[in-house]
Amino acid sequence: MRVKKFRCIQCGGPKVNPYTSPYVVCDFCGAFTDIDFAVGMETWNESAPVTLNYQVRKMDLAHKMQAAQSRGDQRAYYNIQKEYWDFYYRSFPAYLPPSIDTDKKYAIYLEICAVSSTESAFDPKWQQYGMQQQTLQSAVRYSSSSEGTKAETTSFFRLADFFAAITREGMNAFYRDPKFNIMHELLPEPVHFKMKTSMFVQAWLPYLTQQDSDRLLKMLGFSNEYVEIERPAGSNLACGSCSNQLFAPEGSYRVFCEKCRKTTNVKSQFFCMSCGSPNAVPENPAKPIDCRNCGIANRLIQPQFGS
Ligand SMILES: [Zn+2]
Ligand SMILES: [Zn+2]
Ligand SMILES: [Zn+2]
Repeated sequence: MRVKKFRCIQCGGPKVNPYTSPYVVCDFCGAFTDIDFAVGMETWNESAPVTLNYQVRKMDLAHKMQAAQSRGDQRAYYNIQKEYWDFYYRSFPAYLPPSIDTDKKYAIYLEICAVSSTESAFDPKWQQYGMQQQTLQSAVRYSSSSEGTKAETTSFFRLADFFAAITREGMNAFYRDPKFNIMHELLPEPVHFKMKTSMFVQAWLPYLTQQDSDRLLKMLGFSNEYVEIERPAGSNLACGSCSNQLFAPEGSYRVFCEKCRKTTNVKSQFFCMSCGSPNAVPENPAKPIDCRNCGIANRLIQPQFGS
């Protein structure tokens, strides 16, 4: 069968189950592993009234944020940020990372979104970056052709390269900040990077020629390559939370349910490859685990899918 080429960042497994949300969850270890940009676009355009309502309120909130920023009111800025993120995820629930599956995690996540956005909004370095980005954006030249109005290649990629570089820098600093430690679990850095850049891609794609679109998608890791794989053997099981029918490929430890967004354990036990004694499957089956009897490190999921 033909599947999109996704390889789990944790265990190396391919994506075999169909999915309807832009987030790709590994069918072998249950980790949240990638973003499918094409599905993201479909979700965005799914309901015109929802998208319009979002855009109108976003504009209003952006004005309020700007006002708070110019009078130096960090508290007010933070509050509007929180309101904004909550509104965003309620408008587009499919955009909420699948790892955020409880009210508690949602509250923590919104808090982190608001705190980190406020910190960078009031950080002189990021203000400087913001201005540079504005300058590059206004320097993008346009031309009209039969394809419509399109951005000119050189000036656009000056902007895109700058945007990618500062986003990467921001991500690095964010993931090294101990107060955001839980984000490693909620939203792994490479996936978060794609989430941030996907908004940029989404905004610019309509103004790019086919060639420049391909170049941008490739540059940010969004190219949709397909690979041919054997449909793996496996078994059906019921979702542990909603009883929806799920397919677990052979070798899988955790599968994600698209319907209720919860992960179900496929196996709760494994036998040590050295001494054969039973052990409990750890929370993250992609990581090597030491046998509780003999101490040998067992690797539950082999990167058996080529490279
Ligand atoms: Zn995996
Ligand atoms: Zn379910
Ligand atoms: Zn052992």
